[in-house]
Amino acid sequence: MTRLNETHDPKLRSWVAAANAADGNFPIQNLPFGVFRRKGSDEPFRGGLAIGDQIVDLAAARALFEGAAAEAAAACAGSTLNTFMAMGPRYWSALRLALSRGLREGAPQAAKFQPHLVPQALAEYALAAAIGDFTDFYASVHHATTVGRMFRPDNPLMPNYRWVPIAYHGRSSSIFVSGHRFYRPVGQTKAPDATAPTFGPSKRLDYELELGIFVGPGNTPGSRVPLEEAESHVFGLCVLNDWSARDIQAWEYQPLGPFLAKNFASTVSPWIVTLEALEPFRCPWTRDASEPQPLPYLDSPDNRERGALDVELEVCLETAKARAQGKGEMRLSQGNFRHAYWSAFQMLAHHASNGCNLQPGDLLGTGTQSGPDPKDVGSMLELTSGGKSPVTLPTGETRSFIEDGDTVIMRAWCARPGYPRIGFGDCAATVEPAV
Ligand code: MN
Repeated sequence: MTRLNETHDPKLRSWVAAANAADGNFPIQNLPFGVFRRKGSDEPFRGGLAIGDQIVDLAAARALFEGAAAEAAAACAGSTLNTFMAMGPRYWSALRLALSRGLREGAPQAAKFQPHLVPQALAEYALAAAIGDFTDFYASVHHATTVGRMFRPDNPLMPNYRWVPIAYHGRSSSIFVSGHRFYRPVGQTKAPDATAPTFGPSKRLDYELELGIFVGPGNTPGSRVPLEEAESHVFGLCVLNDWSARDIQAWEYQPLGPFLAKNFASTVSPWIVTLEALEPFRCPWTRDASEPQPLPYLDSPDNRERGALDVELEVCLETAKARAQGKGEMRLSQGNFRHAYWSAFQMLAHHASNGCNLQPGDLLGTGTQSGPDPKDVGSMLELTSGGKSPVTLPTGETRSFIEDGDTVIMRAWCARPGYPRIGFGDCAATVEPAV
């Protein structure tokens, strides 16, 4: 089944010239939502839409819309998009369509939109939602197997992995929008040959290359979200760096899972790419015949046919020395979300399968996305084999894990011949020395 509409037409161009650049993030086929204000101002943060190198100020432009699109734009006027996320696909699509029509070349409304554009270069961002709950999944079997082998050589993949979309409940207060800086975490660690732990700065700070899934309409306590309906509960996706202190994690994680190794900082990209914008990049979700097939509540013809998302991922590093020498960033690895063991929709349906009530603006992390190719690894833990094989950078520096002054930049995008590039924008953060 195809659910493409006029907003996906690859031939559409925008009167915002930068939206038509071949290598840009935000063509008129993308139209992602975020929360912004003019940099350094005391304006209120409010909802915006990225087009080329500009932002449509949705609160200011809302008089240009009618019907459901006008209601949706009004819901974007506040400092978070939770109300808009709660409205559901009919409203999301109505606003997307109205914006697509107003921003395309030759649009009669172009002159009326023009005064409501803010250059992205002059903007700063806030979290797009008040994130009530953050749940982080573990949906790459390649990551789970490699990491499992390091932590438990005799038992790398737990028997439940092939049946249950594994996750832990994370913390939302320490999710920050791209561009932030944070202090290296301090905590208890214990070397394998030590008799007692010590307390101090983490020596094994790592990133995790993930996508974040923003929940749209929630479900009431005790109700479930059938897999067939899961996609109407997904507002959109962002890039997510689930920072992790591996030495703290190794000592604390049994028996109840990650705690202080994970809750000091997570970074998200400012823009949320809607599920509708990703429609041309849906692809079959497959489970090899040699593996256990999902239980019925996690299986559907639609998920098999179009449950996976073809989203390219990369992680880059810029050290303080590279910055000082003008050498810029270096790509550490790449990947693609289509290799995930569980689809975004299976994760959401599973989360609600016990009657847990999801709420608009909740964030689900996909888990570190490593692929079948050994170079597609989503963490330093895998890239350096637990620190045993450091990588050498163009500056001559080496890295086993992330050091103070390092900036990690993650990106995601969808690319296909004949279709404009759908970019997610940067998800960047810099590590400061422990205090
Ligand atoms: Mn994670």
